[in-house]
Amino acid sequence: MTEFDLIRDYFSRVGSTRSDVPLGVGDDCALLRVPADCELALSIDTLVAGVHFFADCDPEALGHKALAVGLSDLAAMGAKPAWATLALTIPQADAAWLRAFSNGFAKLAAEQGVALVGGDTTRGPLAITVQVHGLVPQGNALRRSGARVGDLVCVSGTLGDAGLALRLLEAGELPSDRLRARLERPTPRVGLGLALRGIATAMIDLSDGLAADLGHILAASGVGAEIRLAELPLSAEVRDQFSADADWGLPLASGDDYELCFCVPERKRDQITALAERLGIPVQVIGRIVEEPGLRCLLDDGTIRDAERIGYDHFADAR
Ligand code: ADP
Ligand code: MG
Repeated sequence: MTEFDLIRDYFSRVGSTRSDVPLGVGDDCALLRVPADCELALSIDTLVAGVHFFADCDPEALGHKALAVGLSDLAAMGAKPAWATLALTIPQADAAWLRAFSNGFAKLAAEQGVALVGGDTTRGPLAITVQVHGLVPQGNALRRSGARVGDLVCVSGTLGDAGLALRLLEAGELPSDRLRARLERPTPRVGLGLALRGIATAMIDLSDGLAADLGHILAASGVGAEIRLAELPLSAEVRDQFSADADWGLPLASGDDYELCFCVPERKRDQITALAERLGIPVQVIGRIVEEPGLRCLLDDGTIRDAERIGYDHFADAR
């Protein structure tokens, strides 16, 4: 199989067919039509075998995840996904692997209205780079820098599931199907991100853990936050693990959940509740933006501690 056969067979008609793509895979460049009243939102991520995923992991799930992590970045800006490019480095052209990878990528791309419009294919140690391109009406993107004192801090979904799945796999144990899917097939919160345009003041997706990622919002906005640990949304499995080891690492510092963390003015609380209900995505208010910089956690016994002081150190070295 030549490089050109490979591209034609697995990557030439992947995802949505879009009318704003006059030219996709096959020429020196793709040609894309960006509406005049929109900004183009771009993000690129690389997944390296042995670093970001197990080299022998399910290629279908890997194709899904390689696109999902980029779509999660678009969601976090309130951008609507449109196009993607894919740079694939593979040790050899394994037809079954390529078919499964391409299928996983294509299924999510089609679901989200994304067209794969180009890329690059090289031989070498397995690594996958995906660039995603989204559209957002001019001036409407949600940045990290807009949080204001008094805003509510909210998160979607549950925290720590992907981290727990990874911890179990690394210990040679089998996570439940649900946990495993949270690690290997994350759901980018695109609909929620879009719905929060004009409502949220700041937003980020949770790729490195709540403490670090909320920390980015706080730094960019020049504010601090107080979160109530009792309010963190945890699945039953993470809750059980937490009662066993009392380690805040899973909920606060494990990565790969790809949920959204965002801030909203207090007066929009009811709007958030209604929106979460309409989309069928759980959203939890976990705290509030305050003036004093840094992240503080309110514990069950009413004491307040700096986030770094409550014990999740082993995650810090893992990242
Ligand atoms: P060039 O040498 O001009 O860079 P390539 O041989 O790298 O062209 O690619 C040929 C065409 O196939 C281009 O349109 C490119 O965008 C596309 N392409 C290459 N690899 C991939 C891939 N993995 N996924 C999608 N499109 C790809
Ligand atoms: Mg090329």
